Amino acid sequence: MELIIDNLSKTYANGVQALQNISLEIPTGMFGLLGPNGAGKSTLMRTIATLQEADKGSIKLGEIDVLKQKNELRQVLGYLPQQFGLYPKISAEFLLNHFAVLKGISHKGERNDLVKALLHKTNLYEVRKQNLKGFSGGMKQRFGIAQALLSNPKLLIVDEPTAGLDPVERNRFYNVLSELGEKTVVILSTHIVDDVKELCTNMAIINKGQVCLKGNPKKILEDMKGKVYKKTIHKQELNSYKQNYQVISERLFLGKPTIHILSDVNPGDGFTLINAELEDVYFSEIFNKTNAKSH
Ligand code: ADP
Repeated sequence: MELIIDNLSKTYANGVQALQNISLEIPTGMFGLLGPNGAGKSTLMRTIATLQEADKGSIKLGEIDVLKQKNELRQVLGYLPQQFGLYPKISAEFLLNHFAVLKGISHKGERNDLVKALLHKTNLYEVRKQNLKGFSGGMKQRFGIAQALLSNPKLLIVDEPTAGLDPVERNRFYNVLSELGEKTVVILSTHIVDDVKELCTNMAIINKGQVCLKGNPKKILEDMKGKVYKKTIHKQELNSYKQNYQVISERLFLGKPTIHILSDVNPGDGFTLINAELEDVYFSEIFNKTNAKSH
């Protein structure tokens, strides 16, 4: 099973070009869609989930023409949007059971088995009798996944799932997601580089409605090998470094700014070669684009 997006474009009524000729081939497994706020991720996710129309282009999941066969797609889709409402005063188990009834799983024994299995899978079995009102952000997200999995989806879309989660909750969420990629196309849309680094076998970076980079994260990192250098500098030197080098990131390390630069040759000047991280790839793509656009 493969999701193939071909030349997809969308301009909103206010003139914002949210998607510009997006083409992606997404195989079974975890796919990370990475991009800053406003890049077009949600627009793309909602279009794939048949919740909004594109202006042009096509999307295919196996034999299904997503933009035309909306009902067929919906039958094999699990979608966890950025924000979703939950009825606060009932338990996780009750609500999941209720959703299973709505999905048409009418046999009680079968339904109970499925609900139990999903509560275990999402690590919520211990808290299944608790009201959702008392759930933390991470527990709610895991509940959302359990709900999305009720129909055994072939395509699962998860939009910005870890925003607002603390590191422990985020890890739990990663563990739940990482088991899903074996038979399913899972698209994880996020602006958090770590999400993709930990989980995804394929990825794309989008910015300003365009794909800037796509591929396998390991391979992408290999291509950056020997090109990223680091140096700790004084704050007031930052501007002059920015003029002389292609600075891709600046972070504080023990209170001092440390810059990473991209360079094909050893710049000398006190820089040390480092192993590129996915953050370096991400920042270099985003900054390149921003700079190119602003010039
Ligand atoms: P992301 O999910 O990556 O943050 P979005 O897809 O939400 O990006 O937004 C992409 C661009 O489209 C942004 O500039 C946003 O302001 C704009 N946008 C999103 N939804 C609408 C809408 N319904 N009407 C007009 N503009 C929108």
